[in-house]
Amino acid sequence: MLLIHCPYCQEERPELEFRNAGEAHVERPRNIAEISDDEFEKFFFIRTNPKGVAYERWRHIHGCGRFFNAVRDTVSDKFVTTYKAGEPRVDVARDADGIVRTKGAAQ
Ligand SMILES: [Zn+2]
Repeated sequence: MLLIHCPYCQEERPELEFRNAGEAHVERPRNIAEISDDEFEKFFFIRTNPKGVAYERWRHIHGCGRFFNAVRDTVSDKFVTTYKAGEPRVDVARDADGIVRTKGAAQ
């Protein structure tokens, strides 16, 4: 079973306790009533959906209930790291062995 680290509970818990909540770091427009239909479509519907490194929101639905961000390699389906909501995007890179790791981390 896949284990996911909750950055609030500071524990790895089974994936069944979590729910994916879409792409992370999607900023809501400040003037949403004034933007065009095309701009609203881009904000509301258009997502990157990359093959490789994906930044996602997750919720520890059967634990603390809080939202957090995760970096996941969609090719290997492995979580690279998780971090609290509101924290800056974590930089990652794919190493020569094909594994995605956080930059500067010795993992
Ligand atoms: Zn939690």
